[in-house]
Order: sequence, then structure tokens, then C-alpha cells
Amino acid sequence: MYYSQEVLEQVRSSNDIVDVISRYLPLKQKGSSYFGLCPFHNEDTPSFSVSRDRQLFYCFGCGAAGNVISFVMQIEGCDFVDAVKKLADWANITLPEPEFSKEAAEEEKIRKNIYDMHRAAGRFFYEKLHSEEGKTALEYIEKRQIKQNIQKKFGLGYSPKGRDELYRHLKSKGFNDADILKSGLVLENKYGKGYHDRFYDRLMFPIIDLQGRIIGFGGRIMEKGEPKYLNSPETVVFSKKRNLYGLNFAKESKKKEIIICEGYMDMISIYQAGYHNVAASLGTAFNIEHANLLKKLVSDIILVFDSDKAGETAALRAIPILVSAGLRVKVLQVPDGKDPDEFIKLNGSAEFGKLLVDAINYMDFQINCVKKKYNMENDEHRVLFTQEAAKLLSQLESPVERDVYAKKIAMETRISDSAVSDEITKVKEKTDKEFMDKAAIKRIRQYSETSVSDSMQNSKGIQQAQRNLIYLAMNHADVYEKIKNIVKPQDYIDDVYIRLAKFVYEACDKGKNIHPADTVNIFELPDEQKKAAEAFALRLDFESVRDMEKAVNEIVKLIKRTKIDAQVAKADSVEMLTELINEKKKMDNLYIKL
Ligand SMILES: [Zn+2]
Repeated sequence: MYYSQEVLEQVRSSNDIVDVISRYLPLKQKGSSYFGLCPFHNEDTPSFSVSRDRQLFYCFGCGAAGNVISFVMQIEGCDFVDAVKKLADWANITLPEPEFSKEAAEEEKIRKNIYDMHRAAGRFFYEKLHSEEGKTALEYIEKRQIKQNIQKKFGLGYSPKGRDELYRHLKSKGFNDADILKSGLVLENKYGKGYHDRFYDRLMFPIIDLQGRIIGFGGRIMEKGEPKYLNSPETVVFSKKRNLYGLNFAKESKKKEIIICEGYMDMISIYQAGYHNVAASLGTAFNIEHANLLKKLVSDIILVFDSDKAGETAALRAIPILVSAGLRVKVLQVPDGKDPDEFIKLNGSAEFGKLLVDAINYMDFQINCVKKKYNMENDEHRVLFTQEAAKLLSQLESPVERDVYAKKIAMETRISDSAVSDEITKVKEKTDKEFMDKAAIKRIRQYSETSVSDSMQNSKGIQQAQRNLIYLAMNHADVYEKIKNIVKPQDYIDDVYIRLAKFVYEACDKGKNIHPADTVNIFELPDEQKKAAEAFALRLDFESVRDMEKAVNEIVKLIKRTKIDAQVAKADSVEMLTELINEKKKMDNLYIKL
């Protein structure tokens, strides 16, 4: 454990979960809970619920669950300690020095090794580019008109044709096979022993994080072949979902906006043209983590996409994600079917600068895309266009903005201002209501699925049983008194529940009140936190004491029997078996009266 429970409780309770989550995504209140679109899985109806009184979140769609610390860990992709630090910072709490556990120190060492290997690989590729072997690659770079100072700044390199040159180089630097494999730079041979490089005969683009460390590479193939671009795999230091190419340079430019384009070459070309506030996605669709990363650096985004259909689709997909993170978004479509690199080479950087200035607001861009589908001379089309546009405008939070665009649409379609505004209001009310209704339905379905006796049959049932018993022990002193000597912490089946029960039982014995959200703090891994949070994410209500008594008996018996069965399977003496069988008989005759 890095921080004491007291410190963790202080940090947790000083950061209201609804406020913290609202920094990342819009939430709508319904009763004592809040609902929103889950940031951890793709969905268009809200399954993500946040409870202010329990200080927990729970997704009915993907099962993500936890307290405010788990949320920050998952959305920021950081570990427990970093999440605690961030939250402490927000709440102006000064933390004591954390203590490193043995495992954490070990992990830290591996990460450091992987950073070191990437630095060594970057240097290796750079030297190869400027050797005889890299001649073709260097010629290609010159042909693409990347100037020498830019080549150097971006650390461009070349991975040679030999299949294991980098591997041998890393070995000569003293790195061991296990760590080299974890770096993703090298793969195990499929047949036979040995290793081979991931990248060979490719032009190499180092991917650098905001701390200036090389965390991965993109490689463009030199000969014909697939894939044209190959990226490093996900590793402990690299995630495509959480990094953008060139963002380290864009950050230095200290501008209020960042230009986002589609690939390595476009990014470098725009940078070389003098616009240093540019970054590119790493061959993966834009997601909420990218948006949050950008939000930390700037307030505005200019999306630069190719003028083809694919570019338009990519922009339309990125817009809602960026907007929902609270970024102001503009869109630049390069004219004449060009990509940014081609445009700059043909027209020069000043012309590109004009395009940037003329980038249009995302809402105009979306409306233009809709407009293309309709013929404004046709009455029916004008109505359909207005309805579709109203749907887009209904998503604008600001009434002033809605009004401005409503007037534009009215002019465009020659429909009256007030009729367009009414349409928007109608759509807005309808979608708001649908949003809440769908959330309610999902919630009800979840309740019925987890009712105690329904789920007793399967392994999901045994998980649920353990959660429910801990929940009941914590919330009903009389239940705890009756069960504490029958189901002891070590009688639970899963490790997480054993630890959770120990924590809850101890608190109950001391008569100490614990907040549900603080039970999550005893775990540091997201999976464990999820299991702990699940115990308290849903309320267990019983119509009568008799119902509760029935449930308690079912749960206790299920847990005890499962545990005994597991022990029987492992028993290695007749005495032990006899004892277990006797215990099982006792269990059959047991009845707990509340
Ligand atoms: Zn989810």
C-alpha cells in the first residue's frame, strides 16, 4: 500500500465524484443518480450511472465500476498513485511521500528499461539512415522534400533489411530477452527458437511522449508491401489511444489551438511549413482519451482532413468526441482532392495559412455535410433537411448558438425562424426524454437480472452472492452479527472478496462507519476496484425482513457449499474429507433467523 487508508479517504472524500466525472463528460441528473454516455465503451444510449450519495460509478453496459480514484485511473490511463496525486492536487491536499511496494519497484524498473531500449533503437535507426544501407530511404525523404533540420528534429531513421539487427544491437547493450520482448520492438520466431525485429526495411518515425521520451515507432515500408505503415504494438509505455504523433512539439508551440491531421507525412509537412502546433492520430480512430489529452493543452482544435469521402467521415466521427470534451472545433477541408502535404508543396505555406484562417466551425461543417444530401429546390427535401439539421442543433448547449444557427437554417430553407426554432426545441425535448427513459429501462433490467435467487445457478451467481453478503454485512448490523461466525473472511471464494470482507468485518467490529467508496481504495488494480465497487453500486432492497432472511440463507449456503466443494477437490486425506462432509451436512441443517 502506497498511502494510508486515512490519506486515501481524505483524497476521495475531497473530490465529489459527480464534479470530477463532469470534467470529462456531460451528466444528466435523474433522482439521486446521474447518467451519461459511458467513456469506456461505445454507446449511443446512456448506461453510465454515477451516484452522489454512494460516490461510485457503474456502467450497466460494460460493467465498468469504481470510485473517483478508479475513474481517474481509467480515463487518464494512469496508475493508482498518479490518480491519487492528481485528485489531491485538485483538492489542494499535500500528500506524504508514497512508499514503493516491491512489485511496483520491479515494474518501474521494466518501464525504465523499455524507455532506454527505445532511445537506443532511435539512435540505431538514425545511424542506419545515414549509412550505406539507408541510402534508398534517405533518397525517399529528400524526394518528399523533408529538410535536413526537420529530419533531425523528428529523429527520422531507417530499420535495415536484416531480420534481427536491432535485436542483436539491443542484446549488445545488455538488455535481456524478456524485457526486449516487452518493448514490442522484437518478436519471437514462430518456428524454432530465436527472435526477429518487428520493423525491417522501413523508414522510421519515432513517437515521442509529452515528457520527451521515445515510446514507440511508426514505420513506412520502402518496397511495395503491406501494411504501408506499421506501428509499435500496445506496451506498458505506449498506447495508440492515448498518444498523438508530434504532440510533444505541438505542446511546445504554446498556441491556444492544435491542428490535427491524419498521418506522419502530413504532420511533418505542416510543421515544416511553419505551423508547429500540429499533431496526427496514430492510425486509430479518434477517441475520448485523445480528446481529454488535448483538452489539457489547448482550448481549440482545427481538424485537417483530406477532401475525399474518407476524410469527411473521419472528421464527422471526431467532432462529437472533441466537442463532448469541451473543445472548440473547426474543420479545414483541403480543396481539390489533395492531402495537406500535396497542397503545401503545390501552393506554399502562406496559402495553407489562409486555409487555416478560413477553417469553418464544426456545426457549419456538419450542416454542410447534411445539405449535400438534399436538393433545396424540392419542398420535401427542404423539410427533411430542416429536421436533420434540427437534430444537430439540438445538441448545442447554448441557446444563443442554437438561435444563430436556427436563423441560418431558416434563411437557407426559406422556412420561418420560429418554425425552425420550434422544431429544434421539439427534437431537444424528445432526445432528452429518450435519453433518460433508456437509462431507466437499462437500470430496471439490471436490477431484475441481479435479483438474488435468479442468479444462484452459475459462477456469476457466486460472485453476486459474495458481493451481496458483504453489502448486507456492511449495511445491516443485525445481519453481520448473525453471519460473522458462519462465513468468515477466509470463507469467501475470490481473493478480492476475502480482502474486502476482512476490511468490512473489521470496521463493523469496531463500530466504525465506512463509506462504500472507501472500500474501493484498498485495491490498486482496476479489475479489483471494479469487483469491490460492484458490491455497493446497486442497492439491495427487500420488501420485508422475511425476504431478507430468505436471501441471507440462500447466499450463505451458496458461498459455504462452493467453498467446501473447492476444498473437497483439494483434500488429500480421509480425515479431511470426513470433516468437510460433516461440515456440509451441518450447512444443510442451518437456518439463520434474523
Ligand atoms: Zn460502459
